[in-house]
Amino acid sequence: DPILVLSGVSKTYKNGFEALKGVDLSIRRGEIFALLGPNGAGKTTLISAVCGIVSFTGGTITVGGHDNRRDYKAARAMIGLVPQELTTDAFETVWDTVSFTRGLFGKPRNDAVVERTLRDLSLWEKKDSKIMTLSGGMKRRVLIAKALAHEPELLFLDEPTAGVDVTLRRDMWEVVRRLRENGTTIILTTHYIEEAEEMADRVGVIARGQLLLVEEKSRLMEKL
Ligand code: ADP
Ligand code: ADP
Repeated sequence: DPILVLSGVSKTYKNGFEALKGVDLSIRRGEIFALLGPNGAGKTTLISAVCGIVSFTGGTITVGGHDNRRDYKAARAMIGLVPQELTTDAFETVWDTVSFTRGLFGKPRNDAVVERTLRDLSLWEKKDSKIMTLSGGMKRRVLIAKALAHEPELLFLDEPTAGVDVTLRRDMWEVVRRLRENGTTIILTTHYIEEAEEMADRVGVIARGQLLLVEEKSRLMEKL
């Protein structure tokens, strides 16, 4: 069974703007799915609706079988979100910021999980460093570690490589591949077609709030 199902999801903002128009989408367990589209297409709105950050105005969303309106807590607990902006506390250490985030989800303290997460992201050597002292690439990895702290099955990365240089972009791709090997399902948004091609098993193309096509990566170029 799919880990995430959107049926007829629409979102009209209070100013009347229709940011999502009847989106149907089904995500398979263990896949890397890229949501590809230009700025303003509705990618962040879609992620925000799934994560419960914005309300949606029509349709249904289920995460691991949990309706994300009626059973919000259970649905949200399955999701990790890596936002576009760097939202870490510069004065915290890497260890504390990841450990604290588990608590926000009501998960018991578990040092072994925090350690494994930091090791998976090659952050272990930096566990006692304050975030402000880290490189840009490591700060991004701390955001991923925070998103994984409560052991979600589904990880969203919103434009993970927007505005980063080529080296960092490759580093990020490598990190995502490793996470998938651990069994995490990954949905990333991007406006770089080469990123969708490089990373994803399947690609969904979104424009003006409509999902135009969903295709296996290997068949994408024939369709565009
Ligand atoms: P919702 O429908 O989910 O309640 P709102 O329509 O109230 O969302 O908008 C939430 C916030 O986003 C508002 O504070 C609004 O000022 C801000 N906002 C408005 N237009 C845009 C835009 N084009 N891009 C990003 N944020 C916007
Ligand atoms: P993307 O992530 O693909 O760049 P977004 O989901 O951020 O697209 O935005 C989709 C559209 O919805 C844009 O035209 C944006 O200006 C508009 N939008 C985003 N947030 C709001 C808001 N709170 N109120 C009104 N319009 C918004």
